[in-house]
Formats: sequence, C-alpha cells, structure tokens
Amino acid sequence: MESLDRFSNRYVIEGDIELKTPMRIGGGQNAAMYSLSPAPVIECYDAGLGIFEPYIPGSSLKGVLRSTLERIVRTFDESACCVSVGDKEEGTVKNEETVLCGNESCISCRLFGSKNGGAKVRIRDAHLSDDCRAMEDRRGFLREQPHFGSPRPGTPGQMRPEESVSSGTAFRFRIDIDNGTDKEAGLIMLALLEFNEHRVHLGGGSTRGHGFCFIKKGSITRISIVDGVITRDKRPIKDCISAAKVYLGKPGRRNDGERSFDRYWKVFSEPSDRFDDGHVVATLIVTCKSEFSMKGLDEPTVTNGLEPVIPGSTIKGFFRHKLEQRETNQVIMDSIFGELHQRGRLIVSDAWYVGKKGIGDESIPKDSPLRMFMVFDNMTRDEIGHITQFFDSKIQITGNTSAGMTRNSPGNGKNLVEITVEKVSRFSASEYLAG
Ligand SMILES: [Zn+2]
Repeated sequence: MESLDRFSNRYVIEGDIELKTPMRIGGGQNAAMYSLSPAPVIECYDAGLGIFEPYIPGSSLKGVLRSTLERIVRTFDESACCVSVGDKEEGTVKNEETVLCGNESCISCRLFGSKNGGAKVRIRDAHLSDDCRAMEDRRGFLREQPHFGSPRPGTPGQMRPEESVSSGTAFRFRIDIDNGTDKEAGLIMLALLEFNEHRVHLGGGSTRGHGFCFIKKGSITRISIVDGVITRDKRPIKDCISAAKVYLGKPGRRNDGERSFDRYWKVFSEPSDRFDDGHVVATLIVTCKSEFSMKGLDEPTVTNGLEPVIPGSTIKGFFRHKLEQRETNQVIMDSIFGELHQRGRLIVSDAWYVGKKGIGDESIPKDSPLRMFMVFDNMTRDEIGHITQFFDSKIQITGNTSAGMTRNSPGNGKNLVEITVEKVSRFSASEYLAG
C-alpha cells in the first residue's frame, strides 16, 4: 500500500443525487426518537432548524460505490480486484483471495481500504440539496406506503406500513480521494454514473423498485500543494473517465465468464437482438387502458410526490402471479424472482405519470402515460422472454377486488394497462469503452 502519511493532492468529487423512485435506508433502533412508523427511514437532526431530516449516510454510499466499481472492473478483468461482500459471509469460502484481499494490485482494496491498509476514498454523509432545503414543507420528503412482505423468504407474509423518502428529493454528496489520480477519480465517476444507467440503486427494496436515482451537477476538483502553495484546478470529467477507460480496456480477459452478480454478463458477445442474454435495462411506457387506483394506507390510491403511482411491486407481483398460474419451471421462477440464497434478477421500478396535465391524487385516469424502468440483471434471453411476453397487450395488473370486478360486473374492471418499450440498453464492452 502506498503511504498516506504525505499529502500530495486531494481529488474532490461533488454532485447531487436526485431520487427518481422512493429510497429506503432503514432507521434501525434509534429511529423511535423521530418516527412512529414501524419501519422508519434513517434521519439526522438539524440543530439549526430543530427538525429531523432524511440523509444518505456516507457508509451507505461507500458500500454501493465499492461493489459497483468492483462489478465494472471485474467485468473487464476478474483478477484486477476482489469483491468486498461475498462467500465469506455465507461461511462457504471458496477462495479467501477473492474477498477483501488487501493486495497491492487490487484497485478496490487500494481505494476503499482493506485489513492491510486504510482507504484513499472518504465519503461524507449526503444531506438535502440546496434546492430541497429551500422548500417549505420539509416533511414532504417522507411518505408511508403499505408493503406486503415476509420477514424472510418462505415465511408467511404480512402487511405493514413502511416509510421511504419521496422521489424528487435530492442530496448533495462529496467524495474525497487522497493522493489520487485522474484514473482513480474517473473510476469513482464511472461507478457513480451507473446510477444514471439504472444498473445500481440506493438503499433497500431495490428489487421492488426503490432507489432509482440520477447523479446531477457532478464536478471534479483537484487540490494540490506545490512548493507550499495550495492550488485548486477543475479536472474535466471526460478526461478522468477516459483515463479510467484506458485502464479498463488494457489487454486482459476478453471472454464471458459464468453468470455471477459480481460482473456484467455476456458483454463481449454480439447480441442477436436487444433482449438477448446479458444485462439489460428497459425504459417502458405504461399506458392506462382504464382508470387505475390501488388503495394506499389512508388515501384512495398509492401516491408519491403528490401524484398517484403504480408501485413496482404491484407490476412485479402481476408477472409472478401469471407465471405461477402457467406453472412455469421453478428454476426459471427462482432465477427471475429470487429464492432463499439468491436475490431475484428482475428489478421493477414504480411507474410515474409523465403526461402534461395534472391528474390529482385520487386515481390515474384512462389513457394516462406513465414511465418505468425494468432491469434484467444478467438474465438469459429465455428468462427475459417470460416477462416481455406480457408487453404490447392489455393486462389487468391488480387483483379483481382492486380492479372493481365482481361476479355481477365482470366487464367493469379497472386497472388495465399496456406496457410498451421506449428504450432498451444492454451492457456491451465495446460500447461502454467507446462511450
Ligand atoms: Zn482486494
């Protein structure tokens, strides 16, 4: 490990993280100080204003950036870095060297620290952005929504209210890299930009659509000491990213390995179409073919940011229910939706209204357009096909009760939608390195 005793420079990466869907970082035991919710989010006390506010702990951001960077680096060269969370935790260590190795050559351990050395990267807590601070109703950042979940897979589910931070909320982040290089700043930037591609998410509940966000207003500043004088210069983001991509593109492994979550799959193969094997993110338009509403905790339908949404969990629940009805092979079901030892590969965001005129908060009118993201995380073409078969046709995505269907009026159903594809992006090595 290189010495951190001597300061030569510091790279400061700053920007805003804006939530596109609600975010949930659990508050734990101490949350009773500020929330009555059985499932509160973490908040901190603003002594100036005398109120509690949501924030993103630096440790949470650091964890997701580390695993994201590891995934990018390992996609191009598995030997270039280890993984920070892995088999070691499960007690089934295959190879000690692949988890928090601490080797000099490991880019992840060098940047984020290991048992052999401190971290070069420090990440501060991200608090509400200036724009959000200027808003009047600060409690509007939180919402409570019913969540039907089981404490652990295989146990009976139960309904409980759950707090989350509303979409639209933005946080200001700051990341310091001591004695850094353009390449290292570029690698951190690439990890951050994975949020904009929707391949990574913040906080819990991401498989049911939480934590989709965008990085905005990003900047990189280098602070150096030359002959005892402190200088600051802005480093162009594109120069830093180019340096990082030169590093990623150096000759190394150029074949697609096994399908594991610690890298993007099939990035070196030419796909036959956009829904072929690999890591695919689809932007979808959901058009309401009838009025849509789904009862929330106290309100007539589930809302977020004062407008109704269709929760990602509802849409995902529809797919699961349909595929169960069709007695789909259990191996495929487990791969798509997860099982005890592995998370699901399908990630579905909430669908939010994108029409021009306001729609109130009672229900979503017929013909309203909504947008949503669907992530197929290292899925096979066959698995993806099990989901996309429901696109481009009218589907009723809630149960009959929510849809207002009775034996006497089977034709009066609400909650009919049609899902169409707006954009598809599949992780490809050549496009990634060129872009
Ligand atoms: Zn390592």
